Amino acid sequence: MNVILLGPPGCGKGTQAARLKEKYGVIPLSTGDMLRAAVAAGTPVGKKAKAIMDSGQLVPDDIVVGVLADRIAQPDVQKGGFVLDGFPRTVAQAKSLDDMMEKRGWKLDHIVEMKVDEKALFARIDKRARETKAAGGPVRADDNADVLKKRIAVYREQTQPILPYYATSSRLRAVDGMAPIDEVTRQLEAIVGKG
Ligand code: ADP
Repeated sequence: MNVILLGPPGCGKGTQAARLKEKYGVIPLSTGDMLRAAVAAGTPVGKKAKAIMDSGQLVPDDIVVGVLADRIAQPDVQKGGFVLDGFPRTVAQAKSLDDMMEKRGWKLDHIVEMKVDEKALFARIDKRARETKAAGGPVRADDNADVLKKRIAVYREQTQPILPYYATSSRLRAVDGMAPIDEVTRQLEAIVGKG
């Protein structure tokens, strides 16, 4: 099974992707995590991506598409399918994904938008930063109010146009991302559980 979770930063995609893994064995693929790993490892991709990510902008499509294409070629994804979190983020990425899927003879089974109230995102990201700090972990350079404002604007301008792109093929469904975590999971399972 292959699933895409769409929604603004802090809407809970990562949390729900982990739950889908538990229940269905699909592999969570977060391009944000992949890029952060590249930054931490100091690879050429990481070197290009760091300043862009820290400012809340999008890393160029060709770089992100390359990173994702390498990852989906791995055996675990071939076997379990994927749940994408943070990709596609532009219509061009959505088209590249369609091409990748077609070449492999795969299909996108479920595309789910997590709807949230933008105002709640600031509180959520602030909470994530505080909890990470309290646990002694490194706080993401982009998890602060100024950069979050930029990330939300970028989401609105560059990522939201994906919704009509998918809606035309009637693959798009929505869940209420403002509901408690377990309730969001329940709504998601009601969609993907249908196979
Ligand atoms: P968020 O919590 O904002 O959804 P992510 O961890 O998914 O954060 O992504 C963090 C940053 O990584 C983004 O602001 C962007 O710079 C970069 N990034 C992640 N995925 C993509 C993508 N598909 N296209 C372009 N840039 C991306």
